[in-house]
Amino acid sequence: MSKAKLFVISGPSGCGKGTVLVQLLERHPELFYSVSATTRAPRAGMETDGVQYHFLSREAFEEMIRRDGFIEYKQYCDNLYGTPRQPVEDAMAAGRSVILEIETEGMREVVRQYPDCVTVFIAPPSLEVLAQRLAGRQSESEEKRNKRLRRAAEELMRKNDYQYVVVNDALEDAVEALDQIYCAEIEK
Ligand code: ADP
Ligand code: 5GP
Repeated sequence: MSKAKLFVISGPSGCGKGTVLVQLLERHPELFYSVSATTRAPRAGMETDGVQYHFLSREAFEEMIRRDGFIEYKQYCDNLYGTPRQPVEDAMAAGRSVILEIETEGMREVVRQYPDCVTVFIAPPSLEVLAQRLAGRQSESEEKRNKRLRRAAEELMRKNDYQYVVVNDALEDAVEALDQIYCAEIEK
């Protein structure tokens, strides 16, 4: 009998979390991907409201904080990001495994609330490759990229706080590694 679990995935911006997770979700449509809310603007041509994120004004985000609508929320590079509570609780109540893709501070908060969750850090092969991927995505100005790269160095120091570390070098290998973690964990 497999057991539904809560998975928390982190990794520095540009390491390929989104890319790896899209492929994992194609393999496992039974998984529930938690769509976070953010005050960041959508990336033109790359993101749709309600798919990658719920894009909220700061006022709407703060109203959701007041209504206790988030499991956790954090500030990251000048914007707020949070995990909406209701959809995650509904999915878990329905017996589905859930994936949260959140940064390292949020991970600690989720572990406090859900000590049985499974934590996975996705790491780039190196900081140089990370910088190349971030630049290649063409989603941020150079100034914003540099801010994210500084934050990446801090986040990489946290990788040993996670139960699993997957290096996203060749994409297929990273997807396969995450798939194996998922399958092994729900069979435990
Ligand atoms: P994140 O969600 O962690 O911020 P993305 O999934 O947006 O990162 O990936 C950042 C960029 O790196 C994208 O342009 C993506 O196509 C590319 N990418 C992701 N994984 C790989 C990989 N294994 N090899 C080469 N490029 C990758
Ligand atoms: P991006 O702007 O690149 O989409 O995301 C920036 C960072 O915010 C990433 O590290 C991502 O994992 C994190 N993030 C996305 N959603 C959430 C969330 O709901 N909570 C927290 N704490 N971090 C999030």
